[in-house]
Amino acid sequence: SVAVRFDGVFREYPHKTGQVSALDGVSLDVPRGSIFGVIGHSGAGKSTLVRMVNGLDRPTGGRVLLEGTDLASLPPAGLRAAQKTTGMIFQQFQLLETVSVRDNVARPLILDGVRRRDARARADEVLEFVGLADKGDRRPGELSGGQKQRVGIARAIVRNPQVLLCDEATSALDPSTTTQIIELLRRINATYGTTIFVVTHEMDVIKDLCHEVAVMSDGRIVEHGTVLDVFVRP
Ligand code: ADP
Ligand code: ADP
Repeated sequence: SVAVRFDGVFREYPHKTGQVSALDGVSLDVPRGSIFGVIGHSGAGKSTLVRMVNGLDRPTGGRVLLEGTDLASLPPAGLRAAQKTTGMIFQQFQLLETVSVRDNVARPLILDGVRRRDARARADEVLEFVGLADKGDRRPGELSGGQKQRVGIARAIVRNPQVLLCDEATSALDPSTTTQIIELLRRINATYGTTIFVVTHEMDVIKDLCHEVAVMSDGRIVEHGTVLDVFVRP
């Protein structure tokens, strides 16, 4: 079954000389439970693509189906509910610097109306899972880059999402820290069956992490297959 289906997706941005086509007819199925990578150069359309999945951006043509539901067909409350079945991590972590690590992780639950004490207890569970049980009281600024990304991951999975979206999630990290983050993402996939959708320009991340890969260029999918098919076989 399919977690995310891109069905002839276009995204055009207005531009002084007409239009820029960030996505130019993308069709792709991301199997449920898979670790799926999209690789491409800067400007290929990767960020635009990943933002379609949680409704941070919308197609100007075609459809994006999340667990079979066309996001554009949903009323605002339905869209918010669908968004909560996803989590996202970012290159620059996007943590709140003025609150504790624990409250960064608890925040999505608190915004949902979960009582603060319950949200913080759940945050501590997830922090333990990502190996930061002892860091809940710290501020993000006191942590290393790899630890900050673990906090980002903890926040992204605190609601048990079906799909975890990763936008250049290791691009700010050194190679050994990248390896640790890859191991954590694999463990999330193996433990919870979470579908992981990765966009990156880093070939090694795709090779080490992903089951399936699509190559993106100028808003189009130019190749798609297993990592072996696309990168190893001639
Ligand atoms: P990638 O993540 O692969 O670097 P993006 O999805 O960020 O690619 O961008 C794809 C194309 O769309 C680029 O040409 C970019 O300049 C353009 N683009 C992205 N976002 C916007 C925007 N908000 N307004 C105008 N053009 C945009
Ligand atoms: P804060 O923790 O930022 O002070 P809260 O209003 O959530 O803000 O908590 C106020 C007090 O109530 C705190 O001492 C907190 O431990 C306690 N508290 C929060 N949630 C619960 C709860 N579900 N049951 C009992 N006490 C709670």
